Amino acid sequence: MNKIQEHKVTKSLVKLAKDYYEKEQTLGLPLEELKKYKKYPHFFVIGCLMDRQIRANDAWSIPFIVENHLGTADINEWNKCSSGTISSIFKQHTKHRFKKNMSDVFCEAVKKIVEVYEGDASRIWKGSENCADVIYNFLAFKGCGIKIATMAVNILTRMMKVKLKHMESVDISPDSQVKKIMINLGLIDEKASNEMIIYRARSIYPEFPGMLDPFLWYVGSQFCMARQKHCAECPINKLCLKKVF
Ligand code: SF4
Repeated sequence: MNKIQEHKVTKSLVKLAKDYYEKEQTLGLPLEELKKYKKYPHFFVIGCLMDRQIRANDAWSIPFIVENHLGTADINEWNKCSSGTISSIFKQHTKHRFKKNMSDVFCEAVKKIVEVYEGDASRIWKGSENCADVIYNFLAFKGCGIKIATMAVNILTRMMKVKLKHMESVDISPDSQVKKIMINLGLIDEKASNEMIIYRARSIYPEFPGMLDPFLWYVGSQFCMARQKHCAECPINKLCLKKVF
């Protein structure tokens, strides 16, 4: 692909991603969930932290399952529970693959929100205009890597309408879905390292490289599955070189 073609593809990709977010904003998070996250922001933070190597719905349901079994959404009450109680809720009622590890992540997160943020998880982002501060705050949670931290900022800004500045600090998460679609678009080759993916995204959309992340993930996970491709409905069909097929 020459530079002119590459420019065309990157321009179209940015437009497709923005159009998708426009549409998604009108759908947004389910209203009930959005209300819950506004009232109890620790549900949102814990949902993010649980979102690892399982279906997203199973991860995000975990704070709701805990609420159900403890009979309260109050994080101060959750903090009073023993780690054994939380661990047994994880074992018996959640679908997480790493029940022991994730119940520890859960307990540590609850403790931190109570002790550092005085029980109000929205203080992780409130008063921090710079998104780098928010990413930093997320990274300080046990089990939180850059992928979760940038996903959290993406959701906060796009769906929960939190205003943050300096979005150039939010990089793309170089996971397998993102990589597959960037290869199909001819933007990277099959051997590209994670660092190359990150810098490619920075060159495509320097003002907010992570903006591309949810769209590429959406295409990879909803249209370009390993066993089944839905090319006819795929939003990038006209741009796709179909290299990973
Ligand atoms: S057009 Fe087909 S091969 Fe290309 S990304 Fe979409 S589903 Fe995958």
